[in-house]
Amino acid sequence: MKVAVFSAKRYDREFLNVANASAGHQLRYFDTPLDVESAALATGYEVVCIFVNDAANAEVLKVLAAGGTRLIALRCTGFNNVDLKTAADLGLKVVRVVTYSPHSVAEHAVSLLQAINRKIHRAYNRTRDSNFELDGLMGFDLHGKTVAVVGTGKIGCVFTKIMLGFGCEVIGYDKYPSETFLALGARYAEPGEIGAKADIISLHCPLTPETHHIVNADTLSRAKRGALLVNTSRGGLVDTEAAIEALKSGQLGGLALDVYEQEADLFFRDLSSTIIADDVFQRLLSFPNVIVTGHQAFFTQEAITTICETTINSVTQFANGQPLTDEIKIA
Ligand code: NAD
Repeated sequence: MKVAVFSAKRYDREFLNVANASAGHQLRYFDTPLDVESAALATGYEVVCIFVNDAANAEVLKVLAAGGTRLIALRCTGFNNVDLKTAADLGLKVVRVVTYSPHSVAEHAVSLLQAINRKIHRAYNRTRDSNFELDGLMGFDLHGKTVAVVGTGKIGCVFTKIMLGFGCEVIGYDKYPSETFLALGARYAEPGEIGAKADIISLHCPLTPETHHIVNADTLSRAKRGALLVNTSRGGLVDTEAAIEALKSGQLGGLALDVYEQEADLFFRDLSSTIIADDVFQRLLSFPNVIVTGHQAFFTQEAITTICETTINSVTQFANGQPLTDEIKIA
């Protein structure tokens, strides 16, 4: 199969080439993200392989379908960037990587949490400057604290297990509660209790119209004063401007983000020699109690290996006319 791979980084090429060694698909790598301007590059490619910030909206999908594309293969779990209805109308199938390594994301969420709690980012800078002053670096014990997990699926459950290991009480919120979560020794709670009790809130639900800005001025005002918020899921879950106001007032005690709602204009590229025009993002970075990583939670050897193997396997299934194990179907 001819596969056009968009947003292809060095590591994508390396791991996809290994995964494709025996399958032998024709992979063509494009550095550029998929958007309405670049979509024509895929003309003649039956498969288009994309990542989190590639825009597979209606306009783009129409160009792809007209160019002969029949399968969209996402190298990620979330699929909020694909217009599934239009894809179905155009006869395009869509696959994703349902499971690669929930550990990669959950462990990164814990790293961010402890970095923001114990001020590791500030300590790193201080000690490199031979400043061994501790004032301003005080954190709190995780042991005995209440952690709210919003979205108790694969990643949420791994995160929960780790938090229970720290000696935290874990309360969860999910539209579809699961026995797996309860079996870990955690329990579900209503949003009111989460707001009143949680010292830490970690987001692990998908971005949907329902969860867009699930963290907003109203929910932040009902959170426990000084709570820490960790978002490794999707940027659109958090109303960033509301979070900034809550940080300014001290209502939010710290914010650790791996994702940002306008990240498509920023992440996965080196902008260190340019002027960032996004004032909201720049304001975020100015807080001492904010840490941002550039959507790297998934970025472990194990996860990338599985992502690439699963993607190539989906392309092979499609080429052979087999059922697509990881197809996304509209509910
Ligand atoms: P999952 O499907 O196993 O779990 C998602 C959970 O969210 C499910 O239990 C589901 O019931 C719940 N949910 C759905 N709608 C909800 C709602 N309205 N309110 C509350 N809960 C709701 O998915 P997962 O593998 O655990 O991944 C979770 C998310 O993590 C993905 O959707 C993706 O956005 C994000 N993610 C981020 C990275 C990264 O690198 N930062 C990598 C992978 C996944």
